[in-house]
Parts: sequence; structure tokens; C-alpha cells
Amino acid sequence: MTDIDLASLVRNIPDFPLPGIQFKDITTLIGHGPAFSKVIDTLAARYQHTPIDAVVGVESRGFIFSAPLALRLGVGLVPVRKPGKLPAETYQVEYELEYGTNTLEIHRDALTPGSRVVLVDDLLATGGTVGAASRLIELAGGQVVELAFVIELTFLGGREKLAGYPIYSLIQY
Ligand code: AMP
Repeated sequence: MTDIDLASLVRNIPDFPLPGIQFKDITTLIGHGPAFSKVIDTLAARYQHTPIDAVVGVESRGFIFSAPLALRLGVGLVPVRKPGKLPAETYQVEYELEYGTNTLEIHRDALTPGSRVVLVDDLLATGGTVGAASRLIELAGGQVVELAFVIELTFLGGREKLAGYPIYSLIQY
């Protein structure tokens, strides 16, 4: 099982959702039971001996990987969501997109002050999304131990933009 080639199960969709974008489709990866298990096993093995108080997942594909990881580590899952989805008091961070801006939110009381957090998303591109999510974690009093991704698009330089945060990814392009 451990010799599954995860990269071969990520489907590339050219020109989605816009011309020129090579969309990395993870549905083919998570639809393969042993491959999905290998992703979660690998992440769980990486953090099981590290003191972690919570896993933070980024809406929406980040939830697919963050929820099983939190269960495996025996810690809570904290969602970072798009605006207007979280019902209680939130912190908000706006970040730049190629065209326009996006906003993400976290519940103000989601983390105990000083909590050590692993932040999970499906894919690292330019780093804007998890940069904003990291700021939200810090606003809520948490400490980012590592940013974890299934896929990293290395040519977009997200890692450099997120300098200062440890970064881990399972598949690189
Ligand atoms: P970024 O903020 O630029 O790092 O973009 C990361 C977010 O956008 C992740 O939540 C991804 O789900 C999504 N994303 C960006 N580029 C791609 C891509 N080429 N294929 C699939 N998802 C992408």
C-alpha cells in the first residue's frame, strides 16, 4: 500500500476554471481509498510525536484532509471559512488575489491562547490563502507549528512568500 504513487492519482485539468490554469483535481486521489489513507497516514505520522493542540482546516478542500488528521491526532478541528459562514464573533483577514481580494474568518474563541496548531489545505499556490489563515490563527492567539499541504506548486513561490513558517507538502510540481 505504501508504494502508491500519490502524484499519479492527481488529475490535471487544463484551463479550469480559467484559461491558462492547470487545475490539480484531488477528487481522483481521495476517491482511491488506499491513496486517501496514505495521505492521512503520512500526515498523522509526521505530527504524532509533536505537541499539537488543534488542526486548522481551510474551507473547503482543506476540510477533506484536516478533519481526518485531527481525529487521528486526537485533537479538535478548527475551521477557517469564507465570509458570513461562521455564526459567532469572528476575526477577519483580507488578502490579495490576482484580480481583487478575498476574505477569510475564524471564530474569535476557536483557540485557547498559546495553542500549537497545524494548518492544513489541499494545495499551496501563491500562498495568499494560508498566509491569511496563519494571521487568523495568530489573531485568535494560536501559534502555527507547520503549514501542511497535499500539493505544492513550487513554481509559484508560495514557500518564499510564507518565509518564517515551516512548510510540508506530500506532492510537488
Ligand atoms: P493560493 O492562495 O494562491 O496559495 O491558492 C491556494 C488555494 O487555491 C487552495 O485552497 C487551492 O484549493 C486553490 N488553488 C489554487 N491554484 C490551484 C490549482 N492550480 N489547482 C487546484 N487548486 C488550486
